[in-house]
Amino acid sequence: MTDPRPAPAEDTRREFLRARARAASGFMPDDEGEALYEAAMRAGRSPSATFLEIGAWCGKSAVYLGAAAEATGAVLFSLDHHHGSEENQAGWPHHDPSLVDPTTGRIDTLPRWRATIVGAGLEHRVVGIVGDSPTVASRWSTPLDFCFIDGGHGTEPAWADYRGWSPHVRPGGWLAIHDVFPDPADGGRPPYELWCAALESGEFVEDGECGSLRVLRRVAGGTPAG
Ligand code: SAH
Ligand code: MG
Repeated sequence: MTDPRPAPAEDTRREFLRARARAASGFMPDDEGEALYEAAMRAGRSPSATFLEIGAWCGKSAVYLGAAAEATGAVLFSLDHHHGSEENQAGWPHHDPSLVDPTTGRIDTLPRWRATIVGAGLEHRVVGIVGDSPTVASRWSTPLDFCFIDGGHGTEPAWADYRGWSPHVRPGGWLAIHDVFPDPADGGRPPYELWCAALESGEFVEDGECGSLRVLRRVAGGTPAG
């Protein structure tokens, strides 16, 4: 028998955000999005937590992470230059011509990202950063409670994200990497190589996985808190 009492407001909000995240265009299966949300919920327990994602696209993962930020009081920085990765350009399988700005001929996902965040009512918890990931990383100084790497998947951009951002994960903080495929038949190598490097460094330990999502936790090194 179903419970006739109305759902608590936070359950309703959670369901709304889940539906928004699922409906947003992007590259994140529902179960992986849920696992990302759960991992960020753990990270959001520390006071005034800071989350950052590299690779915003149209805002799908930002809604999963933004939901956890809202529920815990954290803030998510969602970073992208919004011109798409190599694999999103014309001629590649992940190209979507509707995202090309006719005046520049270049991909521009920023209007879609903004519409996703505004539509989800998450502007108070999700802050967009428009720019090149290594450039932002080189000037960044806030220790991160949760860092999600899902930017360019080529060797150079993926390693630049790992080298630029993983040192900012605070001791005890989380690092999540998307599109980790141990079997080369399933996808490109670089995200898997980053995950291996993080484990081999001895600075991170495994803290869960779902599909191609890998969650790690920093046990040594990194930026001291405060
Ligand atoms: N997390 C998204 C998918 C990200 S796709 C989702 O849930 O759907 C990868 C994104 O990385 C693209 O939007 C691309 O523009 C961005 N990107 C690639 N290289 C970048 C760089 N050097 N700086 C900033 N963003 C970059
Ligand atoms: Mg991805």
